Amino acid sequence: MWAIFYIRKKYTSYYGEHIKNLYVNPKISKFERRKKIMFKKPIEIEIERTKKGYPAFWESGGGYTNTGEATIIANKDGQPKKALYVRGRGELACGHHALVILEVGDYIIKASHHRGDFEIQIYEILELKTEETIAVIEQINCFSWGEWDAELPAYLEDAVQAIMEKATCYHCREPHYIS
Ligand SMILES: [Zn+2]
Repeated sequence: MWAIFYIRKKYTSYYGEHIKNLYVNPKISKFERRKKIMFKKPIEIEIERTKKGYPAFWESGGGYTNTGEATIIANKDGQPKKALYVRGRGELACGHHALVILEVGDYIIKASHHRGDFEIQIYEILELKTEETIAVIEQINCFSWGEWDAELPAYLEDAVQAIMEKATCYHCREPHYIS
């Protein structure tokens, strides 16, 4: 009881809504709820910096015979962004396809699957430390074991559809979510 109280106290300010959703879902055990909450901390990831000094990230990935993984970027409304650069040479299959300039509020979405059993993580960009080529991101929703942590907002449905297509596009060689 104390442990749960402690976690709630510590994380409610950041994650009040998510915690509410997790606590009312009776299908998730106490341990799973705790694990999910513990993972929902802002994390830092390595990003790219363009020659002109803008923070950027690659749309990448594709499908193999039974598995696949992909990364795409969406703007704050869930829509595709313009690519700064689309790769047209070198090893393209399941590699890096389009470089997109990042802004705070954009979403980085990652997906992987095994025979169509998907795990999808949606991260929001909280801060961009361009000099250090670091983005501070926070997971706002996650699809695993066949369901979302929290209801998927309608404005992110197109992006989720696109990433599932990309992660199942055999030896993908092109961007799927670019305006
Ligand atoms: Zn493709």
